[in-house]
Amino acid sequence: MAPSLVLAGARVVLPTGVVDDGRVAVEGTKIAAASGDAPAVDVTGHWLVPGFVDLHNHGGGGASFSGTADEVLTAVRTHRRHGTTTLVASTVTDEMDLLVRQAGLLGELAEQGEIAGIHFEGPFISPCRKGAHSEELLRDPDPAEVRKLIDAARGHARMMTLATELPDGIDSVRLLAEHGVIAAVGHTDATYEQTLAAVDAGATVATHLFNAMPALNHRSPGPIAALLEDERVTVELINDGTHLHPAALQLAFHHAGAARVAFITDAMDAAGIGDGRYMLGPLEVEVSEGVARLVHGGSIAGSTLTLDRAFKRAVTVDGLSVTDAVAALSANPARLLGLSDRIGSLEPGKDADLVLLDADFDLKGVMRRGEWVVAPQLP
Ligand SMILES: [Zn+2]
Repeated sequence: MAPSLVLAGARVVLPTGVVDDGRVAVEGTKIAAASGDAPAVDVTGHWLVPGFVDLHNHGGGGASFSGTADEVLTAVRTHRRHGTTTLVASTVTDEMDLLVRQAGLLGELAEQGEIAGIHFEGPFISPCRKGAHSEELLRDPDPAEVRKLIDAARGHARMMTLATELPDGIDSVRLLAEHGVIAAVGHTDATYEQTLAAVDAGATVATHLFNAMPALNHRSPGPIAALLEDERVTVELINDGTHLHPAALQLAFHHAGAARVAFITDAMDAAGIGDGRYMLGPLEVEVSEGVARLVHGGSIAGSTLTLDRAFKRAVTVDGLSVTDAVAALSANPARLLGLSDRIGSLEPGKDADLVLLDADFDLKGVMRRGEWVVAPQLP
């Protein structure tokens, strides 16, 4: 099949570096090896980067992943328009039977290719670090219940965030790892040693490092030091300028290196919409000037971030290179999900998932599987 389209003239970010005046050919749903004589679209002056991959996202566009199938699709489409071509839908702590039901619904949407699977955030998290989760619904990890959620997701459970220091936490990590589900340490009150034990048992992700865990202390370094220093762990960071001081982000980046960071949104319903009153699972949230807080207690309750903004901030505020930003937004999360053969870089044979940014790193186009989600308005 001949290429249907060639994007020409952009600065293309490849795993090996940036290619100036590059060409990316699209053939059907895939990136093609040769550009042939397909019609070229001139995107000179733009950046072409792989579609973003969000491991941790609760909703957007006024809808959440705890809602109906239509609401889930609204949230998915909102984030797609901001460059997120692959998204793992996150649940929040709720009644077990509701989570089981939601896992069934999300599993079906994963089957249809709309989402890349499910991330269960809670209910097995620490009451001391509950963040925006309902305290009365939290419980200790129970391998039988963990198993129930994995089964309900019908092969689409991708990750579970849990406080591994709680009773049966380590057994639950082992169970997740055995089923190919990422065990993520988060909403945790664990010590340094307890965190290392969780990593030894198979945990490979730090859920929004720094947030919802004890602060780094020189006498009790806690989970942050353990998760940052262990080569087996990828750390999630919410790069919205609210959840993390820029220096904390720099520290994580310098220590873990660009290959072990995944930028996430942890977005809630207000992402892509704006200020107002929303629900996060069963809890009421007030969003003011883009910052989401619980109405009762004032905890930060997810973000209103989209990954295009995380990218722009990484490059223009945090001073990261575009290749490091692409690693944190596409390649690393794709690898964690076991999807590197299909997504995460602009290489021939992979899905034609790409984001077009202008010279100021503002989003100008999004293509998913060869089709424009946001068609660029080019002169
Ligand atoms: Zn979350």
